[in-house]
Amino acid sequence: MTPTKKLPIRASARDDRFFRASHHVLKRYELNRLGVSDGWLRFEVKGGHMPYEVCIPLEGDATPTCTCPDAKNHAPRLTAGFCKHIIACLLRTSDGSCPEGDLSYHLLDLML
Ligand SMILES: [Zn+2]
Repeated sequence: MTPTKKLPIRASARDDRFFRASHHVLKRYELNRLGVSDGWLRFEVKGGHMPYEVCIPLEGDATPTCTCPDAKNHAPRLTAGFCKHIIACLLRTSDGSCPEGDLSYHLLDLML
């Protein structure tokens, strides 16, 4: 078995994104579940500068994606690609309202 390469995670950047996800995005933004396509659960996140789309894989260890600038420019080298929008959508799936179940397990790699 080949060991998986650990993506870079800077604790302070991770904690900052978790804080902004829970205190800003979940409280002030609109997270609209768009549905599932090709095994990915899609959300539209509105409330920031522009609406963004977050896609979360329902299986496997692929990294969730977001169309925001942070997910493209900074999050890959600071938080394994996780921006505040992705974290907020994953936290939202853990509240029991997601038909696909709790997908917050994607956050475990960020915490360990
Ligand atoms: Zn984002």
